[in-house]
Amino acid sequence: MKIAFIGLGNMGGGMAANLVNAGHDVHAFDLAEAALTRARENGCTTYTSVKEAVQGADAVVSMLPNGAIVKSVYSADVIGHAPTSALLLDCSTIDVATAREVATAADAAGYVMVDAPVSGGIAAANGGTLTFMVGGSDEAFARAEPILAAMGKAVIHAGASGAGQAAKICNNMLLGASMVATCETFAMAEKLGLDLQTFYDISSKASGQCWSMTSYCPVPGVGPQSPADNGYQGGFATALMLKDLKLAMAAAKDAGADVPMGQRAEELYSAFADAGNAGLDFSAIIKSL
Ligand code: NAD
Repeated sequence: MKIAFIGLGNMGGGMAANLVNAGHDVHAFDLAEAALTRARENGCTTYTSVKEAVQGADAVVSMLPNGAIVKSVYSADVIGHAPTSALLLDCSTIDVATAREVATAADAAGYVMVDAPVSGGIAAANGGTLTFMVGGSDEAFARAEPILAAMGKAVIHAGASGAGQAAKICNNMLLGASMVATCETFAMAEKLGLDLQTFYDISSKASGQCWSMTSYCPVPGVGPQSPADNGYQGGFATALMLKDLKLAMAAAKDAGADVPMGQRAEELYSAFADAGNAGLDFSAIIKSL
């Protein structure tokens, strides 16, 4: 397929390369010259505008920083410029309301669109092992699945338009809250005189067990290898966790959902980022507890 790819940053760069590896003809655009150079090295054809990149495309995939940019790129440069037969797939993490608004505008112009945000970081984007959560009709999902499968290990239909974004922020709100709970628990265990490896051995086989503990332990030297063992470098940046928690708080407000734990996690991550830790992995919040 001829696939236009918009946004070739930390995530999009590797995703576009995996589409090339799967045999697609990838027509790429990014505002940053370095991203375009990498895309060319990975076998993409690059363009100087979105409008040129989407000409004649069978599908358009985007991986952009936020909802305002997604809305402006689609409304100004994709809708009305890509053929209406092109499937539109936005993989960025954005707010549910904007995802639905852009999909509605695309639908009105005769396009089929899905929101398809991802779970998994830069390593999963490069390795083609992302998990996609897809919002759109059954027909849209059937068309999107084989394209997304070339970039991921799992492609799941979350529901109607916007449901992919809803699933993503619900998951990450749970992750943020469970990481804070895991961190404060280890900090308390230490103050109570427990050996932290011993506590891990007990709790990882007891009812306190959770992913933040057993797959991503925030304590250096305890549990499997994680960013804690690497000075909290790499992994999932605090700034990105905070972005997702802010999106979750906005969605909770719109939906009238009461989320006291998610709200507290957002406050704690906000303070941690403001204290100069935005670039550290999100499990580094243990240092503040
Ligand atoms: P990034 O900043 O590395 O990449 C974004 C790219 O978009 C940049 O190269 C930028 O130049 C480009 N861009 C911005 N405006 C543009 C425009 N108008 N036209 C074309 N290109 C434009 O960000 P990233 O880490 O790749 O994240 C992308 C998305 O993926 C975000 O929505 C993020 O929340 C989500 N996400 C990131 C991770 C992660 O671990 N990095 C994990 C899951 C989801």
